[in-house]
Amino acid sequence: MDFKEKMGKLITELNNYNYHYYTLDQPLVSDKEYDALYDQLVALEAETGVKLPDSPTQRVGGEILKGFAPHRHLAPLWSLDKAQNIEQLRTWHDRVVRLVNDYNTKNPGNPLPNPCYALELKFDGLTLNLTYQDGKLVQASTRGNGAVGEGILPQVKTIKSVPLTIPYDEGTIEVQGEGIMNLSVLEKYNQIAAEPLKNARNAAAGALRNLSPKVTAERKLNAYFYNVGYSDGITFADHKEMMDFLRENRLKVNPYIFYFEQFDDVMEQLADIEKRRSELDYLIDGAVVKVTDFRIREALGYTDKFPRWAVAYKFEAEETTTVLQSVTWNVGRTGKITPLARVEPVELAGVTVQNCTLNNIGDIERKNLKFALGSRVFIRRSNDVIPEILGKVTEENDGEEILFPVECPSCGFPLEQRGAHLFCNNKTGCKPQIVARITHFASRDAMDIETFSDKTAIQLYEELGVREPADLYTLSFDS
Ligand code: NAD
Repeated sequence: MDFKEKMGKLITELNNYNYHYYTLDQPLVSDKEYDALYDQLVALEAETGVKLPDSPTQRVGGEILKGFAPHRHLAPLWSLDKAQNIEQLRTWHDRVVRLVNDYNTKNPGNPLPNPCYALELKFDGLTLNLTYQDGKLVQASTRGNGAVGEGILPQVKTIKSVPLTIPYDEGTIEVQGEGIMNLSVLEKYNQIAAEPLKNARNAAAGALRNLSPKVTAERKLNAYFYNVGYSDGITFADHKEMMDFLRENRLKVNPYIFYFEQFDDVMEQLADIEKRRSELDYLIDGAVVKVTDFRIREALGYTDKFPRWAVAYKFEAEETTTVLQSVTWNVGRTGKITPLARVEPVELAGVTVQNCTLNNIGDIERKNLKFALGSRVFIRRSNDVIPEILGKVTEENDGEEILFPVECPSCGFPLEQRGAHLFCNNKTGCKPQIVARITHFASRDAMDIETFSDKTAIQLYEELGVREPADLYTLSFDS
């Protein structure tokens, strides 16, 4: 395959993924998988110097959905350059310094200051662009292709933290932020939803680009604002002034923002954000480093796709796709039967994932996974816990059926369904239940019997006929 053919194939594949992600809000692959292909295309373009006109590296976002009135942004909305590791981040910083020095050589009379940086969270939701005219919210739109977005004012008005009027009433401004769904809200929503939502990003994007504001309202969205993209009456000297303006105008600004004079300090703080990521009640997929001084921003300018004065530092992905291979059923201490999924081994957040939880049979049905054996599924791993299957990649029931057991996989006792769960009621005759009860009895939070593990309980069950905690006290010591 020559490079043009390879390039064409990558572009077709990426544009198809873009369509599903940006236009339909139903991605076919995870960001991790998308980014890997995108990076291949960037490398190929850099190597050959060829950039085909329909390349996704040359444009922002996706198509406008039918049904929404288009909104032409008063100033363009951009994507962000990205750094996947510290080395790439340093290369970005070196370029900023070089461009500032070049400028200062050419303009010795009015030199730019040394670049300082703001560090913010990179929220994973949907870009929002709000237009305020003389203090009133008159339009809200998506980023769309960067020049024109979808008008979604009624949908955005359902976000309670978005002010409908602001104190600044001396002209027109456009502010950008991210529409998000808080993770606690998503969890609550999914507990009762007939069809659980796979991911907070798609949940927010799908709700905002929904023609019915009632659906948007049900998702109880939130938003954080981080930019004034257009203003006909006010200017700012730096990022801090602009953020103060947003705050004073009651737009929600995330408190997690840092300012640094030294680039090395930025990197230290990045590690802290990554550590605290799992404590946040919203998705972030990285952090954004921005040059604070607005004169430097103007001097650095923009490429076709992003500003040269900002960069997204991407964190390790928490989601990917893989194939659901089989399901086994485990019996717990209370007799509850839990399904455990075996998936095609896949790298995620630094480990090879082979097993995932599926919670219970109710969850399998609600997540449309009943006919998913052999199909591709999205999985998510955060916080070092066992990964979870979020749902099928496609909606079709194109896989083999997951058969729910009718008898206990351990003792053969008929199972009872209570709510979303299956139970084995054979409390006194089902080995895994007995072993788990004895282990629980001996555990640190109960009798705290030192060195007693589930292996000890199994051995006592098998060799000495121990059937309940009380039996432990009938054992005699045998050296
Ligand atoms: P991006 O999402 O990586 O960065 C730009 C966006 O970041 C802005 O539009 C803004 O909305 C957001 N942002 C969040 N916090 C911000 C902050 N503090 N300051 C400034 N901006 C902030 O770039 P993109 O072009 O929108 O999307 C590209 C990414 O989308 C890819 O890297 C990929 O991960 C994902 N994607 C995935 C698929 C898929 O199929 N899974 C398809 C296309 C794109």
